[in-house]
Amino acid sequence: MSSDDHTKPPADPALRIKAIETLMVEKGKIEPGAISELVEIFQNKLGPRIGAKVVAKAWLDSGFKARLLADGTEALKEVGVSGLQGEDMVILENTTSIHNVIVCTLCSCYPWTVLGLPPTWYKSAPYRSRIVIEPRKVLAEFGTAISQDREVRVYDSNAEIRYMVLPMRPEGTDDWSEEQLVALVTRDSMIGTGLPLTPDQTVKVEATA
Ligand code: FE
Repeated sequence: MSSDDHTKPPADPALRIKAIETLMVEKGKIEPGAISELVEIFQNKLGPRIGAKVVAKAWLDSGFKARLLADGTEALKEVGVSGLQGEDMVILENTTSIHNVIVCTLCSCYPWTVLGLPPTWYKSAPYRSRIVIEPRKVLAEFGTAISQDREVRVYDSNAEIRYMVLPMRPEGTDDWSEEQLVALVTRDSMIGTGLPLTPDQTVKVEATA
């Protein structure tokens, strides 16, 4: 075995992963579908829920919010989020005059410690190129129309800096608990392609809580 075997990435990682998955299922080590389920958990449940907790805490605690905006990397340690590989977390606050959205134009850098795995579209070439050129149009396609009196700022992530959007707290949530607020924070609202849910969009969540 040459040293190249250890230093060079495999020619086709997806194919190799599929081969390993197939072998593990055949050997009875894992259930078919188990990996898809794990991916689903990281993509939609575990990951974004950490970010949602951070957002809800910032909405409720102005001191935490100030620390989060001043130094995201440090403030996130307060809520047990670390494990960063040297990159800094920068939190971008949406306001009545500014709407932020994140992208990685070069590849697919993503704030995975707070949002989990990136959605497929985040890694797609059309999103990565178009969000920079025509952000309002792309946002509208996501169903997120940003009024002309708000500036849209696109932040390009990289190996050193990962961004997360702090969306605006929805109106009509003044007496809401952190747990109730968490339910309003969608993954896309922390990427900037979406907005948090409004109270009337979460009636079902409240009723079952
Ligand atoms: Fe990247």
